[in-house]
Amino acid sequence: MTSLEQLKSMDRASVLHPFTQAKDYASGAADCFVVESGSGVRIKGADGTELIDAFGGLYCVNVGYGRLEIADAIAEQARKLAYYHSYAGHTTEALARLSARLIEMAPAGMSKVFYGLSGSDANETNAKLVWYYNNLRGQPRKKKIISRERGYHGCSVISGSMTGLSFYHQHMDLPLPIVRHAGVPHHYWGAQAGETEQQFSKRRADELEALILQEGPETVGAFIAEPVLGTGGLIPPPEGYWKQIQAVLNRYDVLLIADEVVCGFGRIGTPFGSDRYGMRPDLITAAKGLTSAYVPMSASIIGERIWNVVRDGAEQVGAFSHGYTYSGHPLGAAAANVCLDILERENLADNAERVGSHLREQFVRELASNEFVGEIRGVGMLAAIEFVADRATKRRFDPALKVGARLSAAARKRGLITRAMPHGDILGFAPPLVLTRADADQIVAITCEAVKEVTQQLK
Ligand code: PLP
Repeated sequence: MTSLEQLKSMDRASVLHPFTQAKDYASGAADCFVVESGSGVRIKGADGTELIDAFGGLYCVNVGYGRLEIADAIAEQARKLAYYHSYAGHTTEALARLSARLIEMAPAGMSKVFYGLSGSDANETNAKLVWYYNNLRGQPRKKKIISRERGYHGCSVISGSMTGLSFYHQHMDLPLPIVRHAGVPHHYWGAQAGETEQQFSKRRADELEALILQEGPETVGAFIAEPVLGTGGLIPPPEGYWKQIQAVLNRYDVLLIADEVVCGFGRIGTPFGSDRYGMRPDLITAAKGLTSAYVPMSASIIGERIWNVVRDGAEQVGAFSHGYTYSGHPLGAAAANVCLDILERENLADNAERVGSHLREQFVRELASNEFVGEIRGVGMLAAIEFVADRATKRRFDPALKVGARLSAAARKRGLITRAMPHGDILGFAPPLVLTRADADQIVAITCEAVKEVTQQLK
């Protein structure tokens, strides 16, 4: 039998891991952790270590680990029919059922679903749909896509360009010039002295309007945004933001792509993030929570406005020439159907709202008075604690101190997985939606110990 050490050295010798320092990993200087099993909100390593996963993998294991009901549905589908493609009108019972459910569950005005395998490829599809739509309706110049600084939309060529985090661009020849970035809707950092959230939202909307006018509205096809900024720092929108942004988009006939990869399927207390903020998207990007990551699957949910043009243009252009071998994969559809059953049956959106609020309240109770805590924020089952060197002046820590990474390492040492988010010293939490109050209290207790350890070193 292969020993754990042998497994690790096989891995170091043969895998290029995402977001891992390649040289240190290959040489053995950086850690390798072999994950073996998971149950509820916990995962277990092959060395016996048990960890509370307060980031639900990459905020995707919404229904929690170890759901045999989903495993059984996948196995049953695999025994009956593990694969058939969905080209040229082929489908399966699982896919047809899932699609009908998604349209019913999605915000008003959604009409069709196109399937992929990741959030990145779904955003690629959505960008191409914006271009296709505008070509078909005789607006071939209306192609630019505006996203936001610190937005995250994936790492493929166009989705990586839409992502507004510079380390996804550097050394990778991105972003493509067809993409522009608008300002971050973060009141804590972006507001001017005395500016209310409403006023700040108005300023961001005015800036978006100015950008559209500067580019020429006839060249701007879409605005893409997450309802709540995710990887960029878990930042809920300031009051009035979406209402004001939506008005600008309507004024210039600019489509809205709601990137619901994180917010969709109950994470922020509503079926989709768009529902919570009254957004009226033309396209929705969904992934992660769709199958709770039991099988890779993503969805581009297409609104009537775009669908009508696609349908009417078909006589002229023929078949819709876009698709993946695995679009609408039956195993993904089987997993997604059971995930949606669980989401409904266990009222996980409500649990996200209730237990997520409790988690943030406890963070506020225990940590709001800490001299290095600048902001505690979140919504639904999302929470972030942002640390600064000086609360009064909002001076940041020297990045070389790596405060965020040290906090996350100190928590991990105590059995808790949190995520040090980019662009600041931010500890992020996005646990599975099945989190209990007792789990939340344990997360808070461990986080407090980690904060104590690291902040003592900073004084
Ligand atoms: N969009 C958002 C909002 C995301 O958070 C992510 C991933 O974290 C993506 C898109 C990309 O998804 P994937 O990693 O499945 O390509």
